[in-house]
Amino acid sequence: MREGAFRAPEAARLLASAILWHARGVGTSKPSDTMLGDKPKAPNLERLRQSLDDYMNEKGLRTTEQRKLIVQTFFDTTEHLTVDELLDRVRAVDSRVGYATVYRTMKMLSEGGIANELHFNDGIARYELADGDSHHDHLICQECGEITEFEEPLIEELQDRIAARYGFVVTHHKHELYGHCQDREACQARKLARTTRTIPPRDRSFGS
Ligand SMILES: [Zn+2]
Ligand SMILES: [Zn+2]
Repeated sequence: MREGAFRAPEAARLLASAILWHARGVGTSKPSDTMLGDKPKAPNLERLRQSLDDYMNEKGLRTTEQRKLIVQTFFDTTEHLTVDELLDRVRAVDSRVGYATVYRTMKMLSEGGIANELHFNDGIARYELADGDSHHDHLICQECGEITEFEEPLIEELQDRIAARYGFVVTHHKHELYGHCQDREACQARKLARTTRTIPPRDRSFGS
């Protein structure tokens, strides 16, 4: 057998554990009680701030007050925010900030490796803080939009074994599970809160 070849019994054991985890964690009981993988650890803000400074210096980018506010607001959240959601929060502090400024700042953060740009099948870009050391995947509720992070060593290990089997080098991966919250009542309440939120019309021009 070639080195790194996929050993069938081991794969079956891993797959069975993964399926068991799915059945227990997502299906029949509270995920927090039975999930094997831990909740991902928080990103290292200090280091991300340093990366941002380095990136801006390297690119000769100016720091403006508005940019500072957008970055600070983004660093203060653990959620997966759209530009619109981030704009709402930024405007609560400074109503003069425009959509284009938030959009451009988030593009800059993702180009600099400070933010990850995520796409969850709805055509809307979402951003989260990047963290080189840790990796997590996402459970996405298609009813209320709730996004839950998880880290599962079994899945990571299984992926490595599959890659080895096919003589493939994985540089990164995305694992997204779509479905709905088990707690339908809480899910509907979140959905309602989201859809009844009044969203003011805003200028989306990128001209300025
Ligand atoms: Zn995430
Ligand atoms: Zn939900």
